Amino acid sequence: MTETFDTTVSATSATSATSADSADSASSATSADSADSASSATSASSATGVSSDVGKRPMIARTRAELKAARARLGDGSVGVVMTMGALHEGHATLIRRARANERHVIVTIFLNPLQFGPREDLSRYPRMVDADLEICTREGVDLVFLPTPDVIYPDGDPGVRVSAGPLGNVLEGQARPGHFDGVLTVVGKLLHLTGADRSYYGQKDAQQLLLIRRMARDLDFPVKVISAPTVREADGLAMSSRNMYLSESDRDTALCLSRALRAGAAAAAEGPSAVRRAARAVVVREPLALIDYLVLVHPTTLEDVPEWYRGEALLAVAGRVGPTRLIDNIPVNVGPGGGALEVFSEDAGQDQPPASSVSPAGA
Ligand code: AMP
Repeated sequence: MTETFDTTVSATSATSATSADSADSASSATSADSADSASSATSASSATGVSSDVGKRPMIARTRAELKAARARLGDGSVGVVMTMGALHEGHATLIRRARANERHVIVTIFLNPLQFGPREDLSRYPRMVDADLEICTREGVDLVFLPTPDVIYPDGDPGVRVSAGPLGNVLEGQARPGHFDGVLTVVGKLLHLTGADRSYYGQKDAQQLLLIRRMARDLDFPVKVISAPTVREADGLAMSSRNMYLSESDRDTALCLSRALRAGAAAAAEGPSAVRRAARAVVVREPLALIDYLVLVHPTTLEDVPEWYRGEALLAVAGRVGPTRLIDNIPVNVGPGGGALEVFSEDAGQDQPPASSVSPAGA
């Protein structure tokens, strides 16, 4: 059963919109095709209920008013959100599937957040492929896709008030990309409020981001559970990333040294931290075309280098430039006797068990 996301619903919601909504009512009014996009967007829902069956097209909301109306149509039951910047791949699909297995309703957000890109970064050339993204969302049984433009998320332009990631946001990726995590947390906070999700899903691939989102939820009392999923890799080990599309064939070969270094490091975990670092470095030094920014073995929650006596869980993380492309990767490891690679940190394991009170997904 398909139905158009009709403009009447959007217009009605816009009329009853709060002051925050009015900003994007205005933006839809000025954007001639905004209402059209909404009306041509297809929906899996009917006026009487929303089906989350795999293969049905998700509702699409582009404005706050449309999101509010679509969110209301979802009805009762738990809501999970997967936040993305688009150019979806199997890593995103795995997160969606995890959410699909746990939640009554799944929302995917696709938003290229300008706030988290530095002035010399790749915002303008970041891959955009909305049609293919929507196909994946349909295939994975997503109920609602929120597809805003920057003026919907930031109606007053750059927000004067932002979430500060604090000291953990200034190391590793934060050192290489000043302000990046403030931009990430600000948009994640906004999307959590706007979607009203009960649980949100993030990849271990972006380990520092995951840690900071967890900290934000805890430190700022967000009523949301943060759930992680292991990094999804290509058959040869390369961590999947939308940015892999930038890689030429030879860049891609070079890029393999990152995951190889992580595997080599993890294989030395039984011998202690310096053995892990040595084994990982030995791989990247053989690949001069990979310009390594950092290759570290750090504590999973403080991100400080673990000392030589340390035994337990640690994060082996690497970042580097291959050709024009900056890539990151990491692997959770257990350092010490019997140690090695972990799928996820023990803190993250088993977190996606649905609360006993939650309603089972349709058809489950
Ligand atoms: P992005 O669109 O790159 O911002 O990623 C959106 C979400 O997908 C984030 O939570 C990422 O950590 C997650 N993600 C991206 N790539 C992978 C991957 N290869 N494996 C698992 N999760 C991923």
